[in-house]
Amino acid sequence: MTRRVALLGKPLRRRHSTVMHNAAFAAAGIDARYELLELDPGAVEAAVAAARGPDWLGLGVTAPYKQRVALLCDEVEDDARAIGAVNNAVRRSDATLLGFNSDAPGFRAGVELAMGRPLAGATVVVAGAGGAAHAVVFACLSAGASHVVVGNRTGQTASVLAERFRPVGSGRVAAATLGDAAFAAALRSADLAVNATTVGMIDPGATIDVALLPDGATVFDLVYVPAETPLLAAARARGIRAANGSEMLIQQAAIAFERWTGVGGMAGVMRDAVGPLLADPGAVA
Ligand code: NAP
Repeated sequence: MTRRVALLGKPLRRRHSTVMHNAAFAAAGIDARYELLELDPGAVEAAVAAARGPDWLGLGVTAPYKQRVALLCDEVEDDARAIGAVNNAVRRSDATLLGFNSDAPGFRAGVELAMGRPLAGATVVVAGAGGAAHAVVFACLSAGASHVVVGNRTGQTASVLAERFRPVGSGRVAAATLGDAAFAAALRSADLAVNATTVGMIDPGATIDVALLPDGATVFDLVYVPAETPLLAAARARGIRAANGSEMLIQQAAIAFERWTGVGGMAGVMRDAVGPLLADPGAVA
């Protein structure tokens, strides 16, 4: 029996996840396939119910269904509940679905590689307060970051996010509005500055003024299409360490793959498989 994993979302235009997971299934000798399931909202409940069947390993979940699927799973892990989003579910042997979040550990693995040091004790500035920023702020605080400042275009949303994560870890978390004095002050002492907005992918420009950052800071842009955003170009021009979101994408996929199959260590296979797509300037943004 060929086992299945499907990514639920709408729209689904990118092939990155399909390419990574199908390469890993082939490399691990597992008879399974990963497919895209673009669904209207009315079809989501039936698709989740079907994934309890014996031919399923689990589900991937993307916008706009990360909250909806959390409600449809039989159980949701504490981290995913704290973040407020399920981006994967694993079918257990008792035919129940356990929802989990691989964006937070994927971000942590990717950003620690980029920084060349652990997040523990780091001072972090995050631009954005959407779904991805929730995973980023949770990951930073739970990994022991000492201070996190979240700046958003809509400042009120940043305040709600900061309040939500105040109990996580022992670091401080504060809110700002993109470009205001508090945001600029935080950038001046940041070890790490993260873009977790869609700016650089959808809207032009950059959310972070790299001129304000200390020389030893790292800039991490969650955007991976295009591979080089204006933010990353500016950071590199200033001689600051900079990385895009491709390693987070790969790491979170490898974490999900291990949860579905029990097979770890697939990040290298996935990196090789998705490399040409990540390097393609014509890839879908
Ligand atoms: P989202 O929930 O829609 O949030 C969008 C965020 O971007 C909000 O904070 C929004 O601010 C901000 N924003 C949008 N346009 C802006 C503008 N012109 N100026 C300033 N801020 C603006 O999106 P998401 O799911 O968090 O995704 C954010 C980014 O992360 C996307 O580019 C996505 O591809 C990337 N991502 C990458 C990975 C990875 O593995 N590398 C994983 C997840 C997400 P307002 O609240 O003011 O609207």
